Amino acid sequence: MTDLEKIELDKGKLLPVMEHFYTIQGEGAFTGKAAYFIRLGGCDVGCHWCDVKESWDPNLHPLMETEKIAEIAASHCKTIVLTGGEPLMWNLNLLTEKLKNLGCTIHIETSGAYKMSGILDWITLSPKKAGLPKPEVYEKANELKVIVFNNNDFKFATEQAEKVNDSCKLYLQSEWSKRSEMYPKITDFVMQNPKWQVSVQTHKYLNIP
Ligand code: SF4
Repeated sequence: MTDLEKIELDKGKLLPVMEHFYTIQGEGAFTGKAAYFIRLGGCDVGCHWCDVKESWDPNLHPLMETEKIAEIAASHCKTIVLTGGEPLMWNLNLLTEKLKNLGCTIHIETSGAYKMSGILDWITLSPKKAGLPKPEVYEKANELKVIVFNNNDFKFATEQAEKVNDSCKLYLQSEWSKRSEMYPKITDFVMQNPKWQVSVQTHKYLNIP
């Protein structure tokens, strides 16, 4: 990366884009809704079960002009999902400003491990033990989505739910490879603790990205 690219990246004029695509949101509160996904490269949280490890190294993903990616996204759909990797590693001010000017509603999926930037309409916080969220992300989260990999994650989920605001929706979602083992436990937990809801990665059953 050149010095100029580094400066433009810091300003949010360039962003490392791993992939971008129009699809259906498969999980969480907006399951079933058409949305344009922008997946930014870069994450150093290091979850051992991460299913997008290829996103971790931002240098592997081309830098795109923020204005261009916003125009492409908005030409497909006015609901945008920013995901990663960890999208809050980057300055999202310009991207979200441009998307708002184009009439978009902006969702983000984040571990919350980095400080917030940008204009965000819906924040899905998926906290990770390897890099806990910043206090400001707990305060602003609209949706808490805890991934259940093993039994200890129910305790982690309960602790995380105590930190979010009162109106935040609560979801438990099995890590994909553990779904046959964990969904029976998740459904039991949700029936005993009905403020929680079950989230399923429906896009994987539909074979869409
Ligand atoms: Fe993967 Fe998300 Fe964990 Fe980063 S925070 S390692 S992208 S699961």
